[in-house]
Amino acid sequence: MEQIILLCLVSTILSAVHAQKFFFSPNWGPIGYKEREEHDKTAMDEIIKTNEFQASQIIDGTTTLREGDIAVSSGRRSKVCFARSCLWSKSVDGHVYVAYRLSSEYSEMETKLIKKGMENVEKGTCVRFVPWTHQRDYVDIQPKSGCWSFLGARGGRQTVSLQSPGCLRVGVISHEFMHALGFVHEQSRFDRDNYVTIKWPNIWRDRLRNFEKFKTDSLDLPYDYSSIMHFGMYAYSQDGEPTIIPKNSQNSNNIRLGQATALSHLDTMKINKLYKCDTMDDN
Ligand SMILES: [Zn+2]
Repeated sequence: MEQIILLCLVSTILSAVHAQKFFFSPNWGPIGYKEREEHDKTAMDEIIKTNEFQASQIIDGTTTLREGDIAVSSGRRSKVCFARSCLWSKSVDGHVYVAYRLSSEYSEMETKLIKKGMENVEKGTCVRFVPWTHQRDYVDIQPKSGCWSFLGARGGRQTVSLQSPGCLRVGVISHEFMHALGFVHEQSRFDRDNYVTIKWPNIWRDRLRNFEKFKTDSLDLPYDYSSIMHFGMYAYSQDGEPTIIPKNSQNSNNIRLGQATALSHLDTMKINKLYKCDTMDDN
């Protein structure tokens, strides 16, 4: 009898906790959501945390987020973007200048971080971020709700949202600029099933679509487990179990997915290949 009472008590408490989460938090997540250890967090883990728990999922009536942080406006076929149709134009001097406007709402410290995120992308590539003066195409960096970017150059002004403080981490900033340059997430490559196993039952139900594949151009570069564009091993986990695991290569236990702060070597190569940069020195 006592056991039954105890059981009832426990289940009442549990459902109360559950209900409270559901009713009082506008961004309720799965019960099993676990904060990753700081040392194995990826840029995408930070983005998921901010976008799912601190931001609104709705950007506006016509724009939604795909794969967690890629803004898509209805009617636009962003999937074809990667295949050279949405590149930023290249200057005669061999550089790809991406003009940016930075919201005045960012503090000096935040501005420094955003510039550091840009430097990550510039390092070893021909991409250069330049303050907007008169250019037709430019990124408008704003502390809107969440961390997100459109895919590739859309023509004209395009927003990159870097909410403060959730998105103001160097890796997150570089990740969003990579989207703006035209790159999707590494594990959405069409050939990804040769390299990783998606653990569908472990994925948070509402977010299954974030694991779709894109028909992309992989630029003849190898699959990049450590890309800053790769989801972490526990991305959108509903029960704390892994959602993506490296395929059974000999050293799959040592493979780490994703990247926290810097671009991988292959990320840099991807930029150089997509934009046909002359080989740049690692300056
Ligand atoms: Zn992303």
